Amino acid sequence: MSKLRFAAGLVAGRLAMNTFRILGKDAESDRMGYLPVKICPDFIAHAARPKAVIAVTGTNGKTSLTNFIADMLEESGASVSCNRWAGNYMGAQAWCFLNSVNVLNRSKKDYIVMETDEGDSVLTYPLSKPDYILINNISRDSIFKNPNPDFIMKRLEKAMEGTPDSTLILNADDPVSCFLKTNRKNVYFAVKDLGNGNPDRIIKDFSVCPRCGGIPQYLYKNYGNIGKFVCPDCGLTSPEPDYFAEEVADDHIDVREKDGSIYRYPIITSDVYNVYNTVEAVALLRTMGFEPERIAEYISKAKLPVDREERHQGRHIEVINRSVKNSNGAAASAQFESLHNMKENIALIMIMDEITTSNRVETITWLYDADFEFLNKDNIKQIIIGGERHLDYNLRCLLAGIDKNRISHCLLAEDTVKYLNYEGIEKIYIFHDIYAVELSHKLYEQIIERID
Ligand SMILES: [Zn+2]
Repeated sequence: MSKLRFAAGLVAGRLAMNTFRILGKDAESDRMGYLPVKICPDFIAHAARPKAVIAVTGTNGKTSLTNFIADMLEESGASVSCNRWAGNYMGAQAWCFLNSVNVLNRSKKDYIVMETDEGDSVLTYPLSKPDYILINNISRDSIFKNPNPDFIMKRLEKAMEGTPDSTLILNADDPVSCFLKTNRKNVYFAVKDLGNGNPDRIIKDFSVCPRCGGIPQYLYKNYGNIGKFVCPDCGLTSPEPDYFAEEVADDHIDVREKDGSIYRYPIITSDVYNVYNTVEAVALLRTMGFEPERIAEYISKAKLPVDREERHQGRHIEVINRSVKNSNGAAASAQFESLHNMKENIALIMIMDEITTSNRVETITWLYDADFEFLNKDNIKQIIIGGERHLDYNLRCLLAGIDKNRISHCLLAEDTVKYLNYEGIEKIYIFHDIYAVELSHKLYEQIIERID
């Protein structure tokens, strides 16, 4: 029966996919992947497998890393099936398999590289049985999604029981996910102290030692709670990395391997997230057996991991339109911190309400998880807030000690641009909710017209 269901799902799925492609419609979507799953719930388990199935998960950065790895493997000449559009639930994963087989269930791709939701892993991994599972980091996420790291870790641990043969590639600098119980030998990567002198954040996902309950001490932090730690009471410390970025420059990193050999790889930008992504991708490809020289070549040809932002340099002012994950205190804090570390005079427009999902703008708890205090700095001259919850943002800014003369706020996000005072400003940032792409782009264009 299940074989019949699978055949029906496969034929229906392939037919729909091919028809959409012929008609020039979007054949890459979660919906397309859910079609065979509706007919055959364990579709993924029956689909023919390529040479390797690679699953990428974690709270932050998985879309960039997934695309980066897919680019690198394509540069090696391989064919890759990848859910590049950031969908990561069962439908998107089923799509990767549907896309990689023909109607006779013969594999026609070399690799599947798929972004996977960390909370859903317990449902999907036992079906897809990835050959490699990469976990960037696990931290507090939006309260609508994966808010509790302990809960997510329990789901991942359960998922591991169904994937005994997967090789795990874990971040030794993430004190939460590095302790995932996997009952096998894991591959760890880490990055040296980048000297960011990381200030404390409100969100603390790693406040007590998981072994003895002591207070862990950081030897260094590279961002958030990512860094090397030791517990002064029981000695528990970050795992020894198999791949360690021991030198980080503007255009390259040197990665030391367990046997002491060191290889140089190019990097496209030296921002901390890209450094972690690059080391993680290197750890994967080295584990898969690729030579360092080849990997360096693939990195140099891979596209820049998409940062979901657009930039324009006007005569005197640069404008940057950047998407910020909604309802996620940690993600907002990372963006606020990046502004905090700049020297230029900045105006910031925030339209971060979940405007397209009007039933959800009521949630404001995350405002108190996010470090608005980073924005309380002399060179951040103006903060302009637009949207249904503008009064709440205003209150949060005031509680962060920001001078009220620097804050403007209004109900309609469209009106924010009117409050801009361009005098002496060098950079204008728009931080927008991931669903406000169109609106933020409109504001971005209006600003460009003014500054060119
Ligand atoms: Zn301890």
